[in-house]
Amino acid sequence: MKWDEFSDWGKKISEWAQDYHLTVGDKPVRAQTEPGDILNALPAQPPEQPQAIEDIFSDFEDIVMPGITHWQHPRFFAYFNSNASAPSVLAEFLASAIAPQCMLWQTSPAATEMETRMMDWLRQALDLPEGFAGVIQDSASSATLAAVLTMREKALNWQGNHQGLFGQKPLRVYCSAEVHTSVDRAIWVAGIGQDNLVRIPIKGDWRGMDSEALERAIQSDLDSGLQPAGVIMCVGGTGTGATDPIDECLKVAQRYGLYTHVDAAWAGSAMICPEYRHYWPGVDQADSIVFNPHKWLGVQFDCCAHFLKNPDDLVQTLAISPEFLKTHGKDGIINYSEWSVPLGRRFRALKLWFVMRAYGLEGLRERLRNHVNWSVDLHDRLAAESDFQITTQPMWSLWTFRYAPDGHPDLDALNLRLVNAINDDGRIYLTQTRVDGNMTIRFQAGQFETTEDDVRMAYDVITEIARSFS
Ligand SMILES: *Cc1c(COP(=O)(O)O)cnc(C)c1O
Repeated sequence: MKWDEFSDWGKKISEWAQDYHLTVGDKPVRAQTEPGDILNALPAQPPEQPQAIEDIFSDFEDIVMPGITHWQHPRFFAYFNSNASAPSVLAEFLASAIAPQCMLWQTSPAATEMETRMMDWLRQALDLPEGFAGVIQDSASSATLAAVLTMREKALNWQGNHQGLFGQKPLRVYCSAEVHTSVDRAIWVAGIGQDNLVRIPIKGDWRGMDSEALERAIQSDLDSGLQPAGVIMCVGGTGTGATDPIDECLKVAQRYGLYTHVDAAWAGSAMICPEYRHYWPGVDQADSIVFNPHKWLGVQFDCCAHFLKNPDDLVQTLAISPEFLKTHGKDGIINYSEWSVPLGRRFRALKLWFVMRAYGLEGLRERLRNHVNWSVDLHDRLAAESDFQITTQPMWSLWTFRYAPDGHPDLDALNLRLVNAINDDGRIYLTQTRVDGNMTIRFQAGQFETTEDDVRMAYDVITEIARSFS
């Protein structure tokens, strides 16, 4: 294919994309395929000769699309949403057309300086104090890994990268059992070891860390000659929206000089609304805060906002600059690859710029508030049904429930069957989680094109399918 034929296909594909987004609500949300269906439809060998884009595109529609779970569907209530708003898709198209590598300032000054400005816009949108610096990471998992490496290096007096962990005192990191699995993996990859990730019990409706138990755990580790390194807190955990008492936990961490990281991957977007900020009191005392605009802010994957009170700690942990990566003769520039584990970086700030301008913060706030209010309404309706139990209260737009008709012998099996039947039906998409060991079903609303009617339909689908079982 030649570039002078590109715009014909560019137009066709943008028409296709518009039509897709306008009609995706008519499709079953979760892909209705069996394992191997797509693999078997793809030729086992690569082509030796060029093939026409017409043929490739038609196979895309015939082979690929049936195997897609529609994340942009207005009744996608599973996991957390991963919104791709129209302005974000346009920005991403432009970024992919110019395809710059944004690892250093000089490899695209516009990308670096746009990133600095956009992260400061986001800082203001969240009402974090001036002085917090931001970087866009590919994912919250990467940001958490970067934070764990930083806490490791600080605790080892910056010797871990040089000497390795052999012969060091075991490092200890503290969190509740409600944090995301990306925390476990960061601990593995950083060489700290799962056994040194200390799980602090939770308490209260927010299912947050018990800060007194946190202090006791740190003290007991010190008494045993271990080396506390950091505390990882969650605001809006993935299972049930668990939220640690940030101010209390930060005070304990500070008393022991520990590095602190707040994982607000999903709920951080909601902090553009002042009325939700009581969920993270005192967050301005944290060393590191992460949230994903690629979940709830309309900016498509990947775009993860990572804020640092003191970026020097992170840079001291991750920067390495061989001669070929040096930029001589320019003062005060930022090379964002020194702030992240991967060297190569996409131009991700562009879509933040398009989205924040196209919606305005007020337009974004309105969407988030609607999601929360509609979800709470649905919760209230289901709570009034005697054969349903609410298992965790709404945290923003997330809550959990289970179907519990009187005298049923195995509610775990019943609810697993229910969630599968709902997803086979296809009108809505939900996922399950365990709460205190029990199988429950999650509900959350957060898709940008969701309407109040879409959320109301979830009530009909859930009650109709559950009651059809008896
Ligand atoms: C989604 C999520 C993550 C992981 O985000 P990625 O960007 O996919 O790595 C981490 N923590 C929480 C609380 C999440 O909800």
